[in-house]
Amino acid sequence: MDVSPQRLDALLTQTPTSLFLDGQWRQASSGARFAVKNPATEETLASVASAGADDARAAMDAAASAQDSWGRTPSRQRAEILRRGFDLVQDHAEQLALLMTLEMGKPLVQSQGEVVYGGEFLRWFSEEAVRDHGRYADTPEGTLRMLVTRKPVGPCLLITPWNFPLAMATRKVAPALAAGCTMILKPAALTPLTTLYLTALLVEAGLPAGVLNVLPTDTPAAVSEPLLADPRLRKISFTGSTAVGKHLMNQATENVLRTSMELGGNGPLIVFEDADLDKAVAGALAAKMRNMGEACTAANRILVHESVAEEFTAKLAQRMSALKVGSGLEEGVDVGPLIDAKACASVAELVEDAVQRGAEVVLGGGAVEGPGHFFAPTLLRNVSPDARVVKEEIFGPVAPVLTFGNEDEAVAMANATEYGLASYVFTENISRGLRIGDRIDFGLLGLNVGVISNAAAPFGGVKQSGLGREGGAEGLAEYTSTQYIGIESP
Ligand code: NAD
Repeated sequence: MDVSPQRLDALLTQTPTSLFLDGQWRQASSGARFAVKNPATEETLASVASAGADDARAAMDAAASAQDSWGRTPSRQRAEILRRGFDLVQDHAEQLALLMTLEMGKPLVQSQGEVVYGGEFLRWFSEEAVRDHGRYADTPEGTLRMLVTRKPVGPCLLITPWNFPLAMATRKVAPALAAGCTMILKPAALTPLTTLYLTALLVEAGLPAGVLNVLPTDTPAAVSEPLLADPRLRKISFTGSTAVGKHLMNQATENVLRTSMELGGNGPLIVFEDADLDKAVAGALAAKMRNMGEACTAANRILVHESVAEEFTAKLAQRMSALKVGSGLEEGVDVGPLIDAKACASVAELVEDAVQRGAEVVLGGGAVEGPGHFFAPTLLRNVSPDARVVKEEIFGPVAPVLTFGNEDEAVAMANATEYGLASYVFTENISRGLRIGDRIDFGLLGLNVGVISNAAAPFGGVKQSGLGREGGAEGLAEYTSTQYIGIESP
């Protein structure tokens, strides 16, 4: 792929940097703007309009007035717009991948993977849109006929994080469009460019004015508070940290909003003594190092049976030491920069705390000299279960290895967290794998595999990892409400 400065400049010039409101690109009413930086170089990529409360109210007006006609638009028409959106994402795959690498830092090959994964939500929900059936049946007593239909929930507020700038947007926008909802999308301030580029593609695909309104901002509460206080808003779907999710859930109680929360994780990756260790190492590498470890699905704690811990750790160290760290635009790079200096500092603190509590650094151990927010792939062993690295979401390329003696202990260690999003189990005994699935409190389980996200599958967590599911038929149901009409029996 051409990554010359001329190509990148041309791409940044083509990328919208305004708000998208009621079918038009507009400046923020206050005129405010904020800078978007490249985490690999710390250089400014673009200056983007920053929405405030007045823009939020204008977006709410637009979404509310478009709701009725969009909700009544035949599902086939909505599906065709989504399908054209999918096709346009394929046609612009290189541009989207480059923008993601520029603003978020992930290696280009992983950005290309995200275009495939993120684009797939548009195709999957274009196919689901026309299959959102209700039912018609007699009540058991034969006294009534039941007509059960699904209606769009209504205008939605969609808030996305910076770590998967394309997929986190399409995972919400596509089912909302398929269900017939209008929306206000607020991307993360660190990575608004991919979302703005996607918006232009969806407009080209034929979205009517007011259906999708996009409000980048570096003052998120100024946008979300007036929206959450507005009775016309009917739903919030949020992906981000548990702390911000809880805060928004509190605000959402005022108008009793439908709420979907995709929050933080602290995923265990369990390697049993009967695992294929090469498969387990490959799985751990994918589940831990992909996206620089900045994934809610990341394997945060690697739990290995004591009889294979030494061999597993040696093999993982060998594979991790071969990872190339550098700018995501460089050929062959496996690990790009972390998102910002704060992220690097907090990952370093977690490593220091683990070392103070007796962990041994097998590999890496700290940030790499700047410019750019690079952190060396780090492998820790003999990690104390009390270490912060075990209890908190790491969000960096740090793999802590802990050991267990038997299945009960592995299950207890896996469940010893307030989170419950992704988990991974490696064993060649499938009935054991399924048994562990029954016993661990996680919404997702990868059995002998390190990456399982898919547009057709329900993604989401239990406990403090959130509420609701994205993807699959479940993902569409989040944007519909059920109506039952009881009809007198003929
Ligand atoms: P974050 O909570 O800081 O921000 C997420 C979004 O919320 C951003 O758009 C941000 O601008 C916005 N926001 C922040 N404060 C707000 C406020 N007071 N009012 C309204 N909006 C506000 O999270 P992040 O750092 O962007 O993302 C990382 C987190 O996201 C991690 O915890 C990760 O696990 C989680 N995550 C979860 C999933 C999932 O599907 N469960 C997927 C990706 C990321």
